Amino acid sequence: MIEASPDIAANLAQVRARIEAAARAAGRRAEDVHLVAVTKTKPAAAVEAALRAGQRLFGENRVQEAAGKFPPLKATWPDLRLHLIGPLQTNKAREAVALADVIETLDRPRLSDALARAAEKEGRLPQLLVQVNVGDEPQKAGVLRAEADAFIEACKKRFGPLVTGLMCIPPLQEDPRPHFLWLAACAARHGLSVLSMGMSADFEVAIACGATHVRLGTAIFGARV
Ligand SMILES: *Cc1c(COP(=O)(O)O)cnc(C)c1O
Repeated sequence: MIEASPDIAANLAQVRARIEAAARAAGRRAEDVHLVAVTKTKPAAAVEAALRAGQRLFGENRVQEAAGKFPPLKATWPDLRLHLIGPLQTNKAREAVALADVIETLDRPRLSDALARAAEKEGRLPQLLVQVNVGDEPQKAGVLRAEADAFIEACKKRFGPLVTGLMCIPPLQEDPRPHFLWLAACAARHGLSVLSMGMSADFEVAIACGATHVRLGTAIFGARV
């Protein structure tokens, strides 16, 4: 079945309006909040519908899925930008480095090593965000809060200005605000300007807490099956 693209265009317009309103309410400029349209599980036709509606920044969880969908689209839409936002296995590091404009999920020394090796082979390295496990949840990706400062410093030392910021996914059942504020304070402490936080259910709170990138799937493309 083809995605109903009028819906996607309308949803995008609505989401952009909500981002603007949330930015304004927080005394921030709307252009300082970037929308990452999350297309995991959605077909290329849905991505194209968003592209036709002016969206250029996309997020995918899985390297394999992104590698199938995005290179052909990038040929037609050269200013398309892809963020990888899912847990990254070291054996996918090279493909991720070849494919992504930003990898948002750098979260452990072994992945740093793999990305450094991949960068050498590919002759390029995407921008990097360090993912912090702000709820210290055992099942979740991200560096634990207690280890975040040291890991971020090590990443900055190794990758320099390519490390641009932090990313988090707060615990599902909790008020996200203290987690967003923790991440914002951590980024400030390290002089990092990018804060990727906020999803369909909580992006307005994230914007109030300083998010520069919100990652929205459901609000744009509908529920995933
Ligand atoms: C799926 C996903 C999103 C988007 O979630 P929605 O609730 O559909 O907006 C954002 N960030 C990450 C890391 C995701 O995996």
